[in-house]
Amino acid sequence: MSPSKSPRPEPSSSAPKRGSARTAAGAPPARNSAGAPAGPPVDAARPQIRPKAEGWQQPMDAEGRPKLQFAQPKVKQPPKHLADMTLDERTARATELGISGFRAKQLSVHYFRHYTSDPEQMTDLPAETREQLVEEFLPPLLTEVRRLKTDDGATIKFLWRLFDGAMVESVLMRYRSRITLCISSQCGCGMNCPFCATGQNGLTRNMSSAEIVDQIVQANRAIAAGELDAPNAAEIAEEADHAALGEETDFAESEESAAAGKGASSSSGVGPQRVSNIVFMGMGEPLANYKRVMNAVRRMVDPAPEGLGMSARGITISTVGLVPAIRKLADENLPITFALSLHAPDDELRDELIPVNSRWKADEAIDAAYHYYKTTGRRVSIEYALIKDMNDHQWRAELLAEKLNARGRGWVHVNPIPLNPTPGSIWTSSEPEVMRAFVNRLESLGVPTTLRDTRGKEIDGACGQLAAAEE
Ligand code: SAH
Repeated sequence: MSPSKSPRPEPSSSAPKRGSARTAAGAPPARNSAGAPAGPPVDAARPQIRPKAEGWQQPMDAEGRPKLQFAQPKVKQPPKHLADMTLDERTARATELGISGFRAKQLSVHYFRHYTSDPEQMTDLPAETREQLVEEFLPPLLTEVRRLKTDDGATIKFLWRLFDGAMVESVLMRYRSRITLCISSQCGCGMNCPFCATGQNGLTRNMSSAEIVDQIVQANRAIAAGELDAPNAAEIAEEADHAALGEETDFAESEESAAAGKGASSSSGVGPQRVSNIVFMGMGEPLANYKRVMNAVRRMVDPAPEGLGMSARGITISTVGLVPAIRKLADENLPITFALSLHAPDDELRDELIPVNSRWKADEAIDAAYHYYKTTGRRVSIEYALIKDMNDHQWRAELLAEKLNARGRGWVHVNPIPLNPTPGSIWTSSEPEVMRAFVNRLESLGVPTTLRDTRGKEIDGACGQLAAAEE
């Protein structure tokens, strides 16, 4: 990588200010220099493709803009579950029912330590109150509809049916030193991003805190039953390959999250025996369901048996950029990892890729991410799905670097990811050499960047592919 030699026909300040981004040939003035040594096929002949929803009708509001749904429709909520409550609340509820408060604690141990909701297994509880306790505190929330495995059993996608028939998915991935679960926070999504399968049916409802947490408990149960295999030699080699290229194999990997993985490891050194990392990158916009998501996060980090006793550093919240909620998150005093789905540094393109950009512009979202860093000291991530001829131009890498560097150094990390195909869409991932050039450009401008590997593509379990259809 030699930044000085790489073609840079225009200073990045010539990157399109408003209005110049989509010229006839599309790309702004960025041109490939003919003399670039073995230079990547940069932007010269590549058009700017205009984003539009493919294969489905993107719902529009009265002003003709992509519709945004923040509030959930008025629908029945799931039954209350012990994972919705703090230990004190559980104890108080038990007492109200005329049961000793201590039983609430025992029940919590069954759920959060042994991952069981089955009264048969709760032999330490008096037979006469067991059923009542389970009925009251552990109503069934997630019913497994289907499970798909790939990567030789090291990746499992679960399809769950909720009490009202709504469906959600989660994806469980075992790596060498950690187990990551990608979880859903809403049934559907109201953010209407045209490249993401989840938004295509709009928002059905928010998930409850316990529905969010139960995804983890059920995944832990599957792991404990030996149902998640170790990555095979080929996958490990691939991980090592990615590492050699400076790539990450999973989004939340960092020193801290690796440490989180170790925390959940067995002493035999065979890797974790339960979920160590959580990414809120399944269905839904977590910050649009703020209260329930935060309550769920508390349950993840509360020590057992109040909760799962996970490390907050291993939990990543990813958002389209709901600025006020990002600021609120910064004040929660929890060292969770924060990720902003930027996907374009310029408002012209971001307005179309991320409809919520009509509310909070790219710069405001980046400012909020920077505020998160300043407040928590946690380095934040910028997610960038590389879409062929859409957002993968060199000038965009430059504009992105300029915007990030303008706020400071060492506060941010960019995670480009190849676009995953979604049903009916003709959009595809950028070409490998274009991705490499994008990454190199950012790196050469001093922005730490790692291309993410995507697991689960074959089972539609990768980012943006979760749509939770029964067939
Ligand atoms: N609503 C949140 C979290 C869910 S999506 C958010 O948008 O951040 C998790 C990540 O997957 C986001 O960065 C999202 O933009 C990205 N994504 C969505 N569709 C994708 C696709 N088809 N290919 C690759 N990434 C995609």
